[in-house]
Amino acid sequence: MTPFPTEVDVAVVGVGAAGIGALRRLADAGGVNLLGLEARDRVGGRVNTISPTGFALDRGAEWLHSADRNPLSPLAQRLGFTVHRRPPEWTSRLSRSGETPEAEADWLATRERQSHLRRTAALAPEDRSLASTLVPGGRWNQLLDATSTWANGAELDRVSVKDYVSYDEHSTNVNWRLAEGYGRFFEKLAADLPVVLATPVSRIDHRGGAIRLDTARGVVTAQRVIVTVPTTIIAAEAIRFDPPLPGKVGAAAGLPLGVDDKLFITLDAEWAAGFAQDGFLVGSTTRRETMSYQLRPLGRPAIYCFFGGRFAAGLERDGAAAMFAFAADELANILGSDIRRHISPLAATAWQQDPWSRGSYSYAVPGHAGDRAILAAPVDDRLFFAGEATSPYDFSTAHGAYGSGLAAAEAALASLRRS
Ligand SMILES: Cc1cc2nc3c(=O)[nH]c(=O)nc-3n(C[C@H](O)[C@H](O)[C@H](O)COP(=O)(O)OP(=O)(O)OC[C@H]3O[C@@H](n4cnc5c(N)ncnc54)[C@H](O)[C@@H]3O)c2cc1C
Repeated sequence: MTPFPTEVDVAVVGVGAAGIGALRRLADAGGVNLLGLEARDRVGGRVNTISPTGFALDRGAEWLHSADRNPLSPLAQRLGFTVHRRPPEWTSRLSRSGETPEAEADWLATRERQSHLRRTAALAPEDRSLASTLVPGGRWNQLLDATSTWANGAELDRVSVKDYVSYDEHSTNVNWRLAEGYGRFFEKLAADLPVVLATPVSRIDHRGGAIRLDTARGVVTAQRVIVTVPTTIIAAEAIRFDPPLPGKVGAAAGLPLGVDDKLFITLDAEWAAGFAQDGFLVGSTTRRETMSYQLRPLGRPAIYCFFGGRFAAGLERDGAAAMFAFAADELANILGSDIRRHISPLAATAWQQDPWSRGSYSYAVPGHAGDRAILAAPVDDRLFFAGEATSPYDFSTAHGAYGSGLAAAEAALASLRRS
């Protein structure tokens, strides 16, 4: 256990993917006295693996997005993790969900047209919402909206088209998984880093020569500070800056965290044998309030359910039993009611109710695509900001967070050298 020091060169607030990236880079540079301050009793933040029945379940990040250019893919492999490269079907196979092949082709063409319309809309001087590109009364509008709740954690009318497109244009659409869990990988990256757990920071006083951090274990001073907490924490001023930083608070408010959750279901052996590995289902193609399902992911006797937006926020409030009841109804509707006898709930998440994340991943409110750069900008070359929401186009991802941590650490090191 890292002892609690009172004075360091660099303090990193929050030890999720971004904090781990920052601490890793600083530790590898050597010669810097550093400390990670983490509110939870574990590292990883929104990347977290549990193994209640032996195999790994990622409660948060699971997919190495843009995996063929994602620097964490080769790193995970070097650290001995098993990289699964099978491409996910996600919403590309609607025939599994009861649609005809013709309807599936129509959906794929609509998705393609939407992508084009969004890219065109993003070029206009005025930012708009993703909903503004919908064809009124379009056959697939509900499914497009459901897809937005999975991708952005929010419905189409809440999401900036300019921000969305800057992610989309940089995405390679290659998605891989780690059999042992994305969370376990980050734990391994963090294993030798100086981190104190269960130590929330409540105030950062950057008036004097050294920056003073008020924490649950007392005061620590630092020459440089890297703040990596989610936008929800900054927007709610759960950490107070002194002097205040209204620009940061405003930018964080323009980049709220959408809501996405997971429900893990076990499938008994008899039924598991009847399913192909890694099949994807959409619960409904005509309702926005629906779940997507991974059947037998990596061959496991399980179904992973994924759901987002206001619907997910409501189910969080209703609890895990309500999540399971909803999923069981949708699965019975598609696969036959006999499935009810073969499934049981295993684990569920509630990321919006988690006090240290208060949501899942950031999206920009229409008109606020520029807030990412405002949030990322250093203050007085002493206070640096990282975290997924500060990434210009890999936001909402674990690798985007990690990369932002590396960049903030580089900037802090350069600033220390100048002083
Ligand atoms: C359900 C779900 C599915 C996802 N799927 C994917 C996916 O497949 N692929 C992908 O790449 N990404 C995915 N993501 C997103 C990814 O998990 C995040 O973008 C990324 O992990 C964010 O990392 P971060 O370091 O920016 O923030 P966080 O992980 O939130 O880290 C910030 C840390 O700060 C701590 N903290 C908060 N307040 C304080 C305080 N006052 N003092 C000290 N510490 C504090 C928190 O406890 C946390 O550990 C998913 C997320 C969710 C929730």
